[in-house]
Amino acid sequence: MFLVRPIFRRTHQLTPSIGFLQSCHGYSSSPSAAAIQAERTIKEGPRNDWTRPEVKSIYDSPILDLLFHGAQVHRHAQNFREVQQCTLLSVKTGGCSEDCSYCPQSSRYDTGLKSQRLMNKDAVIEAAKKILEYVKEIRGMGMEVCCTLGMLEKQQAVELKQAGLTAYNHNLDTSREYYPNIITTRTYDERLKTLEFVRDAGINVCSGGIIGLGEAEEDRVGLLHTLSTLPSHPESVPINALVAVKGTPLEDQKPVEIWEMIRMIATARIIMPKAMVRLSAGRVRFSMPEQALCFLAGANSIFTGEKLLTTPNNDFDADQLMFKLLGLIPKAPSLDAHETSDTENYKEAASSS
Ligand code: SF4
Repeated sequence: MFLVRPIFRRTHQLTPSIGFLQSCHGYSSSPSAAAIQAERTIKEGPRNDWTRPEVKSIYDSPILDLLFHGAQVHRHAQNFREVQQCTLLSVKTGGCSEDCSYCPQSSRYDTGLKSQRLMNKDAVIEAAKKILEYVKEIRGMGMEVCCTLGMLEKQQAVELKQAGLTAYNHNLDTSREYYPNIITTRTYDERLKTLEFVRDAGINVCSGGIIGLGEAEEDRVGLLHTLSTLPSHPESVPINALVAVKGTPLEDQKPVEIWEMIRMIATARIIMPKAMVRLSAGRVRFSMPEQALCFLAGANSIFTGEKLLTTPNNDFDADQLMFKLLGLIPKAPSLDAHETSDTENYKEAASSS
């Protein structure tokens, strides 16, 4: 057996100086948009007047610069070691009449998911009453309760608030322009209206999107721009990576790369500093070091539990080990709506970090 070793000649010692010349050539040393806007966010706090070109220029900043400045804002605006752990419980699975192209629960796609039969009117009303009871009881147990029930009317939002609901999840999914490629049964404006009812009722807003739907980067920017220019930023912004499910129209989409997630998370953190930015669906595909980069970039919330509705999620023990290794602390429930949205709180957090 031969052991093969590379042979180096003395002349190779000259090589590093050539590399140095290359690395200096042609690169600008002026601060990136991520650096400029992160500094402004740290000084001024949350803004709702972002322009789309501003969001795009942050999003397009060199990735390590974006990651670094996302981390800086995160350290000023949040307790950066705290990560919220949320668990999802599906009270009705499948048989949905909407046509969201990514979703195995839509009754329009054959994904092998066994759905429950469509309920009659009395059963729906009974189920709605039950949801209000669930909310009251779970809240009474000292937990935050977040529901996702689709479109809401104004009165329904008020009743959910009275029952003690902490937050309501209703994702915009993607940009206004790309949205009709993904969902045709509801409009973007209907989604925004539901968010408005939720906000007006005094319930925290949880709204984000999914990447990997075949959208362009401009659509990701559009989604973040819409969220960051709502009258108040959502308290929670889930960033999902598509989990392509066989049988859905998006079954052949290529998996989202970690760099795409980092770009979304860091941009969201810089433009919505007080929001909980949630590393959501698709986390199961990312290694622990990759997830660590997401937490560094500004993510501070995850879903725990082995299933995310119908798709697999990270193993519970692996998540606990990750918390230990990365020195993360589970965030305690906070039971006041709007606790994260005002500028005064932001300044307090900024000055104490
Ligand atoms: S995402 Fe929600 S609304 Fe859309 S098909 Fe799935 S269950 Fe229905």
